[in-house]
Amino acid sequence: MTATGRPEREHRSARHEARPVGEDAGFDVVVIGAGAAGMMCAAQAGLRGRRVLLIEHYHRLAEKIRISGGGRCNFTNVNAGPANYLSRNPEFCRSALARYTPRDFLALVARYRIPYHEKKLGQLFCDDTAQDIIAMLKAECDRGHVQWRMPCAVDGIAREGDRWVVHTPPGAVRASAIVIATGGLSVPKIGATPFGYRIAEQFGLAIVPPRPALVPLAFDPAQLARYGDLSGLSVDAEVSCNGGRFRESLLFTHRGLSGPAILQISSYWSGGVPLSIDLLPGQDAAAWLLERRASPARLDNLLAERLPKRLAQQWCAAHDAARPVRELGAERLRAIAAELHDWRVLPSGTLGYARAEVTLGGVDTRGLSSKTMAATTVPGLHFVGEVVDVTGWLGGYNFQWAWASGHAAGQVV
Ligand SMILES: Cc1cc2nc3c(=O)[nH]c(=O)nc-3n(C[C@H](O)[C@H](O)[C@H](O)COP(=O)(O)OP(=O)(O)OC[C@H]3O[C@@H](n4cnc5c(N)ncnc54)[C@H](O)[C@@H]3O)c2cc1C
Repeated sequence: MTATGRPEREHRSARHEARPVGEDAGFDVVVIGAGAAGMMCAAQAGLRGRRVLLIEHYHRLAEKIRISGGGRCNFTNVNAGPANYLSRNPEFCRSALARYTPRDFLALVARYRIPYHEKKLGQLFCDDTAQDIIAMLKAECDRGHVQWRMPCAVDGIAREGDRWVVHTPPGAVRASAIVIATGGLSVPKIGATPFGYRIAEQFGLAIVPPRPALVPLAFDPAQLARYGDLSGLSVDAEVSCNGGRFRESLLFTHRGLSGPAILQISSYWSGGVPLSIDLLPGQDAAAWLLERRASPARLDNLLAERLPKRLAQQWCAAHDAARPVRELGAERLRAIAAELHDWRVLPSGTLGYARAEVTLGGVDTRGLSSKTMAATTVPGLHFVGEVVDVTGWLGGYNFQWAWASGHAAGQVV
């Protein structure tokens, strides 16, 4: 591979013992999946002098990095910590995150002189393009003399004594350790597969059922008839559900709801549970409305002072409140104020893996070491990145997990 993603012939390092590539080539480590976590892990292991083979089945390198952050890759978040991740074991990510921090990744970015900026809430983006991050990781792999098979399918892996054998169409390769870095299920059209989950199951590890996360939510036909016309309209809102709470913008779409507030809460949402949407966060809607209780103005016109007019109209129509304020009375105004702060919306579903940024769930962390990312019952089998049941918030947290978990395994394989 070249830094631009063009395949090149497998090469051999002068530092490494010369052995034929192909059948029984004998690597120390085979990393499967050349995305964010896989490249970080391979580079780290290679830089330690390990003989590393990186296998990627897709014909283009690190597509998720390329399309991330609107093409500018929100590559970390300066505030990343365990509280920003969802997992059945919220403590699992602590060790890896502490040992490879956003500051460590920034030092790497600085070494490659990649220009970047902070957008908001600690989110760091490339000034130019996500390709800078891909080229940097590729260059780190080159420094570690990582060898490549790409595009190359993996037919299966097996344990052979104390070694691993990885079956691929060009031949089997053997290694002391295997790292599964095949990511989650989101965006299948650019290479996502359930491969990692299948390998975990093959070796007796449990899987936390995967589901789409950081994903837009859908309206049912009745909700769409009411709010579908608001498509493109965005409001500052605080959205909460199942213990998650985010204040960011909420976007109406032609299929339902999206925008950062909704993507964030989608990771907490489970079917059948309504979202609570505060349309006037940080304001005292009751005090504001009661001060105007003698007003002859219609409530939707009054609300249009604080909400987009079309939303105020649709919301009031849905709540049978498009009437002169003075006719509504104090008690009804209080109830309306409460609903403005706690608008209950039950999505009909998510837009699925095609539109999800990440996959919630994955390899159950109870079967993994948080220090090495190794399966505790299967020597030499490691899982890194999104395939593991650790899912970050929107805002650079998922890449930080990929770097940190890839680094953790890269130090020990
Ligand atoms: C549109 C979009 C935007 C995003 N933006 C951001 C962002 O700005 N910031 C952020 O932190 N996160 C973002 N994410 C999430 C982030 O991209 C992922 O969390 C991260 O890439 C996970 O890294 P990974 O290495 O575990 O998996 P991936 O990066 O998905 O890499 C997995 C690799 O394994 C390969 N693979 C899969 N199956 C096989 C197989 N059977 N054999 C061989 N190879 C295989 C895949 O082709 C892929 O190259 C975004 C995601 C999407 C979809």
